[in-house]
Amino acid sequence: MNLIFIAWELDRLRWVPTALLADLVERDGLCMWAFTDVPPWADEEMTDRELAARMCAGCPVRDECLELELRTAGEDTVGVWGALSADDRRELYPHWLQRGERAERGPRS
Ligand code: SF4
Repeated sequence: MNLIFIAWELDRLRWVPTALLADLVERDGLCMWAFTDVPPWADEEMTDRELAARMCAGCPVRDECLELELRTAGEDTVGVWGALSADDRRELYPHWLQRGERAERGPRS
């Protein structure tokens, strides 16, 4: 997994207001509306990384979800968001924080 590339891809979202990201994820996020029932794979044994790949496959707002989670939870992130496991997001976080103007503006701006 190339974390620097993922951080680079998120650069395009760095000026999108957090409230707008939250609206987009809530409106279009696959897990927000597609899983009205228990998914058929819910009982399968999976690592968090496998669960993230399965749950977020085809979601149209993966980058927005990931950017939002990095901004709002940062290193304290838990669960599956933005098609990544919590361990992968914690590893991504310092790379993401260094990009754009985030280091000067702070992660939540
Ligand atoms: S990327 Fe995954 S966790 Fe985020 S909204 Fe889409 S399905 Fe849900």
